[in-house]
Amino acid sequence: MKNSALIIDNVNRYSKNDIASESRCAVHILGGKIVDITPPFPEPCGINIIDARGATLIPGLHDHHIHLSAYASSLTSLACGSPTLETRQQLIDQICQYGKQRPGEWLRGYGYHPYLAGDIDRDWLDQHVPDNPVRIQHRSGRLWVLNSLALRQLGLIKQTKLAIPQAIPKGAEIIKGRYTGRLFEEDAWLSAQLSQKMPGFKPASEKLASFGVTGITDCSPRNSTNEFDYFQQSQLNGELQQSVRMMGDSNLIQAGYSPRLKTAELKLHLLEAKLPEFDHICQQVRVSRQQGRRVAVHCVSRTELVFALTVLRECGTSKGDRLEHAGVVPPELMQRITELELSVVTQHHFLREQGDRYLEQVEQDDQQWLYLGQSFLSAGVPLAAGSDAPFGSADPWISMDSAVRRQSRSGVLMGAQERLTPEQSLDLFISCPQLPGRRYRHIEIGEQADLCLLDAPWHFVRNDLNSRHCRVTISSGQIIYEKDN
Ligand SMILES: [Zn+2]
Repeated sequence: MKNSALIIDNVNRYSKNDIASESRCAVHILGGKIVDITPPFPEPCGINIIDARGATLIPGLHDHHIHLSAYASSLTSLACGSPTLETRQQLIDQICQYGKQRPGEWLRGYGYHPYLAGDIDRDWLDQHVPDNPVRIQHRSGRLWVLNSLALRQLGLIKQTKLAIPQAIPKGAEIIKGRYTGRLFEEDAWLSAQLSQKMPGFKPASEKLASFGVTGITDCSPRNSTNEFDYFQQSQLNGELQQSVRMMGDSNLIQAGYSPRLKTAELKLHLLEAKLPEFDHICQQVRVSRQQGRRVAVHCVSRTELVFALTVLRECGTSKGDRLEHAGVVPPELMQRITELELSVVTQHHFLREQGDRYLEQVEQDDQQWLYLGQSFLSAGVPLAAGSDAPFGSADPWISMDSAVRRQSRSGVLMGAQERLTPEQSLDLFISCPQLPGRRYRHIEIGEQADLCLLDAPWHFVRNDLNSRHCRVTISSGQIIYEKDN
């Protein structure tokens, strides 16, 4: 990466303790770092100088929880759930229209939630799109639903009979000797059958840059050395412009070294309906400890959280162990999170994107403990946030705004006392990537030049938390996004 000099002149440095700050300066960047901060130039001039016109410079945002490959794939797929679709008919219209416009082509959908049309299967899909091979992913990421043509093209059925392919995937559901089209946990098999390559990261990386995102933590549990190599290659060829922490499976630890791509926690994915063997998961945590590696446990529901806390209490915790999502945290479990000194990486935008459904489906008693804000902070739990894209919006500003408003799409306020201030919500995305919610990045000499220049002062933007205010994004000293004027 080329490290040219860059100066951001006439700029306000973000400070959460002085939100009305009007003291302007010039921030000098060289070799990927902030090397000097001086009074503004008397007359802004010269190349490689950006005149900020008094707007505020914030640390570049770090998305602490994203699934980059799935997000990149989603950009060329059909969204099959909220917030894009809200009704069964919208889903039917969308897939039928795709079938008409692209006869015979594979249709890939993502983010399906049964609230739209129930537990769909092969027959349901055949009714609407019989002539395209179809695969639609459940929003949990663990289930694909395929239509008959897709099953045929994958060799699972031959005309009307059940075929015996070379290796029948274990997760293929068969009822009364017939495939239902539902494939559980068979991503790897499906990718192999489709000779699927990893998606190109350029469009996804550019979109993230336009939101001011300069770093990500990829939280996909299956990440291993292949994914590490692919991410590294994508950074080297310029397609992926953010720095990356990569969580993944127990083999990831063997991946190589790269300054902008670091291996991160062992990711453990819990699913309430199918919790893993307790001893087995404890063993995984212990091995991880021996490798000096922290763990991050996915827990959305109360049951998953209780399971995660029991495992971590049994195995002992290491500073920086994380709970992902922590969607339901009643006070007694909050206390256990505090005792175990765990960090939480959450998604307040789910309140907007899924809130109306939570109000219908989450047990009444648990609704007051959904995606908490102030309660975490007052309990002293290090708190940060991530988009969980493509399962949530990739735009961190939507998440920040939602942390402040806590309103569902229909406008129901969900826990007024949990609302964060705009500064607390920005904090969720500007803490150190390796210690979310524990230490914050500042615009100081010697810091990494991962920055986002806004188009207005913070005291204005704080009342309109929206990514349209991102004017320039700088990652390791390089401009990776510049808004058209
Ligand atoms: Zn996730």
